[in-house]
Amino acid sequence: MNANEMKSMGLATRAVHAGQQPDASTGAVMTPIYQTSTYAQAAPGDHKGYEYGRVSNPTRTALEGNLAGLEGGKHGICFSSGVAATDAIARCLRPGDHILASNDLYGGTYRLFRQVFGPFGITSDFVDMSDVAIVEAALKPETKLLWIETPTNPLVRLVDIQALSDLARSRGITAAVDNTFATPILQRPLEQGADLVVHSTTKYLGGHSDVIGGAVCTNDDAWAEKLRFLVKSAGAVPGPMDCFLTLRGTKTLDVRMQRHCENAQAIAEFLEADPRVAHVYYPGLPSFPGHDLAVRQMDGFGGMVSFLLSDDSMEAANRVLSATKVFTLAESLGGVESLMNHPATMTHASIPEEERRAAGLHDALIRLSVGIESKEDLIRDLDQALGQ
Ligand SMILES: *Cc1c(COP(=O)(O)O)cnc(C)c1O
Repeated sequence: MNANEMKSMGLATRAVHAGQQPDASTGAVMTPIYQTSTYAQAAPGDHKGYEYGRVSNPTRTALEGNLAGLEGGKHGICFSSGVAATDAIARCLRPGDHILASNDLYGGTYRLFRQVFGPFGITSDFVDMSDVAIVEAALKPETKLLWIETPTNPLVRLVDIQALSDLARSRGITAAVDNTFATPILQRPLEQGADLVVHSTTKYLGGHSDVIGGAVCTNDDAWAEKLRFLVKSAGAVPGPMDCFLTLRGTKTLDVRMQRHCENAQAIAEFLEADPRVAHVYYPGLPSFPGHDLAVRQMDGFGGMVSFLLSDDSMEAANRVLSATKVFTLAESLGGVESLMNHPATMTHASIPEEERRAAGLHDALIRLSVGIESKEDLIRDLDQALGQ
C-alpha cells in the first residue's frame, strides 16, 4: 500500500500497516530489528539511503511512517524520549523568544522550558489554556511557540485545539500539541490546524511500559527539515530495539484505547457517586466542564481519570495510595496495567508549591492511568482502598 492508499484507511488499519512493508530481501512480514550502526556503500556515496545509525535506521523509518500515518501527517520524526522531542522543538527558538504553555501540563515540560531553556534567554509563561481569552491576553510580540496539552495533566482539562491553532496562525506563532494523553486514535491535532504533534511514545503508543521514546509529526516540510537536522546534529535518537517495541505497541493501539476508555468511564462514574470523593476529573462525565468540547474534538474520552478525596490532606492521599492491590503506585501512564500517581509529590513535584496549588493540584489529588484489566476488579480495588 502506498501512502495515499493508506490515508483512506481507518485508524485500526493504519495502526497495523502504516509505514510497514514485508522486508524486501527476505519477505519477513514484521519489520526486522536492524541492529547496526553503519551501512555498506558500493562506492563512495553509493548507498541504499542509509549511511550511519544516528542519522537513520530502517526500523526507526518504519516507526516514523507508522506514527505519521496515524496522525495523518506527512512526516514522523522519532527521538529517544518524549522530552527529547520537546527539546528539539524548543532548540529551534532563539534567545529573546517566548513560549506560552498550558499551566496544567507534564511537569518535565515545565522543567525543560524554565530550567534548561530559561538560562539561554528563552522565556516561558504558563496559563490556563481552557480559556482562549486568557491565552490571547498572555501572548507577547516575542511569543514564537504555543505549547498545548489536551487533555491536560493531571486535571484532564480540555483545550480547544482548532481555536488556539487559528489564533497562533494569525500571529505567525507555531502551535504544538502534546498528544500523549489522547493518542491519534482519539484526537488528531494536525487535522485541527496544529503545526506540530508531539508524543511521549513511552505511554499509550508503546503501551506496555517497557520502552522510552518520543516523536514529532508534522505536515510542515521546513519544520521536518529542522528537526531531522537536530536528530543528526544533537543525536537524541532511539535504538532499533526500542523502535521495534514501540511499533509492536502501536499495532494494538486502537483496541487498547477502546478498553482504556471503557474502563475509565466506569471508574469515573463509580468515583463520582462515592461520598469519599469530592471531585472527579474525567471528560466523559456529562457534569465535567470540558465535556462538550471533548465530544466535538475527540473520538473518545481517554484512560486518564483524576479525583480529589473529600479529606484533602497528604495523609488521606497516602492511605489510599498505599492500599491498592491491582493499581500500582508509580509514575508514568498509558500501559496495559493500571497505575496511580500522586501529582503533588511525584510527577508534578518539579513545579513550585505555590504555582502547583494555584493550578488546582491539591494535596489529595490522585491521578489514575486506567489499564485494560477487568473493570470490576479495578473498581473493587479502589473501593477497598478508599475505605482504608
Ligand atoms: C511522559 C510525558 C512526556 C515526556 O516523555 P518521556 O518519554 O518520559 O520523555 C511528555 N508529555 C507528556 C504528556 C507525558 O506524559
